[in-house]
Amino acid sequence: MKKVIDQFLAQVRQKNQHEPEFMQAVTEVAEAVIPYIVKHDIYYGQNILLRMVEPERVVSFRVAWIDDQEEIQVNRGYRIEMNSAIGPYKGGLRFHPSVNLSVLKFLAFEQVFKNSLTTLPMGGGKGGSDFDPKGKTDTEVMRFCQSFMTELYRHIGPNRDIPAGDIGVGSREIGYMFGQYKRLKNEFTGVLTGKGVSWGGSLIRPEATGYGVVYFAEKMLEEKQDSFAQKTVVISGSGNVAQYAAEKVIQLGGKVVTLSDSSGYIHDAEGIDTEKLQHIMQLKNVERARINKYLEKYPKATFHAGKTPWEVPCDVALPCATQNELHESDAKMLIQNGCLCVCEGANMPSTPEAIHQFVQHKILFAPGKASNAGGVAVSGLEMAQNSLRYSWTREEVDNRLKNIMAEIHSSCMTHGKEGDYINYVKGANIAGFVKVADAMLAQGVV
Ligand code: NDP
Repeated sequence: MKKVIDQFLAQVRQKNQHEPEFMQAVTEVAEAVIPYIVKHDIYYGQNILLRMVEPERVVSFRVAWIDDQEEIQVNRGYRIEMNSAIGPYKGGLRFHPSVNLSVLKFLAFEQVFKNSLTTLPMGGGKGGSDFDPKGKTDTEVMRFCQSFMTELYRHIGPNRDIPAGDIGVGSREIGYMFGQYKRLKNEFTGVLTGKGVSWGGSLIRPEATGYGVVYFAEKMLEEKQDSFAQKTVVISGSGNVAQYAAEKVIQLGGKVVTLSDSSGYIHDAEGIDTEKLQHIMQLKNVERARINKYLEKYPKATFHAGKTPWEVPCDVALPCATQNELHESDAKMLIQNGCLCVCEGANMPSTPEAIHQFVQHKILFAPGKASNAGGVAVSGLEMAQNSLRYSWTREEVDNRLKNIMAEIHSSCMTHGKEGDYINYVKGANIAGFVKVADAMLAQGVV
């Protein structure tokens, strides 16, 4: 089996040299799915995975804009339309200096499996730019977003490709892009998700990814007759996903002791309660400050510059910042400190070596494509509400989110059970694969 997998990966690598993040994502899927393909005649011999790793379309474009000093700036924009076998392309836009083809292809590839797991009819895509919103004024961000959408609008549409937010793209950026799309097309359609509630957005969309991660982790703990009550939880990041994951953990009786950003992490041993979390939301979302400003109001907490929070002893770890932020040595430390459960909020935050440690030590471990699917799931619900021209209540959307996370959990169990251990990586990849592969086979060689 190893030989078959290695041959496949060598073939993909040859065509995608210099794309390490994409190869990392493909390797994880290949290792889980190829043994399954080999055992199932309907997939075997169809080159189905080779078709899946090739994006249906890649668009790359110039984004020129003028900053506040009247200097001309040039960034690069992208949209990767990866797979539309089960629905229109769907996936976020990321604005961060680290954005390149490899990062977006890995994200788009992951998105195909994630969207399939949600049970909703959505294909996979991803896009973004190497633009850094950090330190830019609102008017600079607006001019950039308008220029970006002036090209992107040709490639997207409510039945074709529906982008959303991701790192560096929150409600402000979605608003500016939606405004420009509406102006260019002269129509009010649900072409982006993550919109404001008064102009077509869904309740619970901002909370959905973070809440979904915690609902998923709750299901994992339930399998061990356990819960979040009294659990010490470390979280990385302090953006959209991290903030709402923290909020839900607190509601379920857990104690959140860390949050972070790219400058380092804060450790509050007394726990970050609702009031402290509100302060962090004000710092990050309104003042756009660095996380260490937390210490000015809560001086008992400590700040650890340039570090990640995995060294802090915990019961549950929720990596919610970015890819490859949790390494093998971090995994070993978490295991040594008695961590029971690692549930990914970010996309691919754990390196393959770290995942290997978790699986080998039978730690409850959920890959982001399963556990962070709540965000895109509620984006799918936003699309449904836009089509109906109707809004569901907070409670209705939250209940649907909970049910979807429970269904994803049971799909992972169906395909991931190995004796008394649930291999969520294997389970998520196979369950996500089957639905897309069946649709591709039915639609012929296209
Ligand atoms: P935000 O931009 O709101 O927040 C990102 C957070 O991660 C910030 O605290 C940021 O710190 C930190 N971060 C970013 N890059 C790095 C880095 N290289 N090293 C350390 N910290 C970093 O993004 P989101 O919360 O939306 O996204 C976080 C993760 O969740 C991403 O992996 C994203 O793909 C994934 N995700 C998001 C979904 C959503 O609905 N938003 C849905 C599913 C997955 P700083 O401010 O210093 O950059």
